[in-house]
Amino acid sequence: MLHSAEVLLLDIYDLQENDRIVTWLSPIHGKVRGVARGARRKYSRFAGALQPLAKARVNWFHREGRDLARVSGVELLRPARRLQSDLEGILLGGYLAGHVLEFAQENEPSERLYRLLDATLESLLAGVDRKIAARYFEAWTLRLAGIFPTPTECPECGRGLAEGAVLARGDDALVCPACSPSGRHVSAATVGFLQRIRFESIAKVAEAPPAPATLDEIEAVCGRIRRSFLQHELKSYRVMQETLCSPFRI
Ligand SMILES: [Zn+2]
Repeated sequence: MLHSAEVLLLDIYDLQENDRIVTWLSPIHGKVRGVARGARRKYSRFAGALQPLAKARVNWFHREGRDLARVSGVELLRPARRLQSDLEGILLGGYLAGHVLEFAQENEPSERLYRLLDATLESLLAGVDRKIAARYFEAWTLRLAGIFPTPTECPECGRGLAEGAVLARGDDALVCPACSPSGRHVSAATVGFLQRIRFESIAKVAEAPPAPATLDEIEAVCGRIRRSFLQHELKSYRVMQETLCSPFRI
């Protein structure tokens, strides 16, 4: 079957001598993997258009029962060069794509996840603070996956969480301190951020940004909930941490 859609390119790697394997997210088709034949040749019709995290119009052919689609055309709509121009940006881009590769499904409409990634990239390309964008994106990805709802009240007793919460044992929900005397304490500021993003865009959050310590706490809480759900860490996160925290960093 022939398809054509506006998509976000997630991952591109070389296959054999001349070809590339491309994975993208389509709002209608979910995650799709296809082969771009001849894409490594110098004068390929795909030349320059296959960039990770770019927005593109892709035409592809997918035969029933086949794993891989066949890419027949790619038109670049929004390059992601600004994000790919330094090491930190490349690692962050890999982290965003890593989430989507893990959480998006094949043959499953992914309109909200698509819109989240699209809006996050748009903000990053416009120069928004990268940490705010990353925290916003990771919290929303967990929310869209249905594993980390907005913490408004304690799921155990219904008490409000405005004064802070506790990450319950098992690292899978925020409850009130009365319901879980042990566990990791989560500040009111972090709960506030998780409530704000329900109604605010990244740009809006960036206008009144959380304190650096709050951003660190959001990263830690989301990381624990993500790991508890996946039962492993995203490889892109490990790579980012190891590279950016390395004493040998150039
Ligand atoms: Zn409670």
